[in-house]
Amino acid sequence: MADLGVVLSAPGVVSLEEITVDEPGPGEVLVRIEATGVCHSDQHVIDEDGWGHRLPVLLGHEGAGTVEAIGAGVASVAPGDRVVIGWKTACGACGACARGAPRQCRTPPAAPGRLHRRDGAELTPVLRTGTFATRTVVPEAAVVRLPGGLPAEQGCLIGCCVATGVMSVLETARVWEGARVAVIGCGAVGLCVVQGARIAGASVIRALDVDERKREQALRFGATDTEPGAADFVFDVVGRRATFEQALGLAATGGTIVLIGLSPAGETATVELPALFGRRARILVSHGGEHVARDDFPRLARWALDGQLELGAMVTRTAPLAAYADALEAMRGGDVIRTVLVP
Ligand SMILES: [Zn+2]
Ligand SMILES: [Zn+2]
Repeated sequence: MADLGVVLSAPGVVSLEEITVDEPGPGEVLVRIEATGVCHSDQHVIDEDGWGHRLPVLLGHEGAGTVEAIGAGVASVAPGDRVVIGWKTACGACGACARGAPRQCRTPPAAPGRLHRRDGAELTPVLRTGTFATRTVVPEAAVVRLPGGLPAEQGCLIGCCVATGVMSVLETARVWEGARVAVIGCGAVGLCVVQGARIAGASVIRALDVDERKREQALRFGATDTEPGAADFVFDVVGRRATFEQALGLAATGGTIVLIGLSPAGETATVELPALFGRRARILVSHGGEHVARDDFPRLARWALDGQLELGAMVTRTAPLAAYADALEAMRGGDVIRTVLVP
């Protein structure tokens, strides 16, 4: 059967089309995608005309599936293994990796040149993954075995929103037990920040969102409050002027503001420097929560299996790949936590 993929072929032009998927090269893995979450970053790629990816782009970056073939030298997975695909990996060779800081690696490996349109044009997979497809090819570092018992529809979430949200709390911010936390923007990533804060033992978890439905549902994931108030850690999961300025206003003395949300190009915010100084506040940027797929996915999957992380309730809908446009629209409208496409 022909392979299919959701392709951004020109600015604003997205379609489901036949694609060709080559055999994996050395150090690469071919994965049959069984579930892929629809994340705001895919919308961002569309809105920003590829967001730095060369067109045409194969969308999707939050996937899980089964290994179908491996290239020479691949040792950590074998055909038949169920895996989660991770976009944030480490090269093992750059300055950051050499000094033992793989979480800061800026040169993650890719598997270029394996995916094409029918006319032969090379597809750039979003964040080196390209999971809105029946099959994709990724570097070995991007696949992590999924434990039995965790359905692919839930497992795929570990690849982006769970890793980003939970690790922003545990790794980027290092929230301490008893801390007061506020989360601005309670979509899928925000709910994972809420869950991470619960795991970290936060005493107060404020769920803030302009959409009342999102505030209410956050209470089911561990939020304790839906009103603004002072916090030791404020997570801006939206990344707009209004939310960042709100975050600055909520930070307590010695507080930390963590910027997670992807801002549109050119977005600015005003920072009152005396207030920032007076409060000894610090501003951190979370790049996917500084996670590394290999190091963090196994622990996140274990927490999902033993119920510390609630993933089932995050999957609002499943839909076929062909329903990608509806899924993006539902996400923009805030009607779903996550739609998971099932290719
Ligand atoms: Zn590196
Ligand atoms: Zn994502």
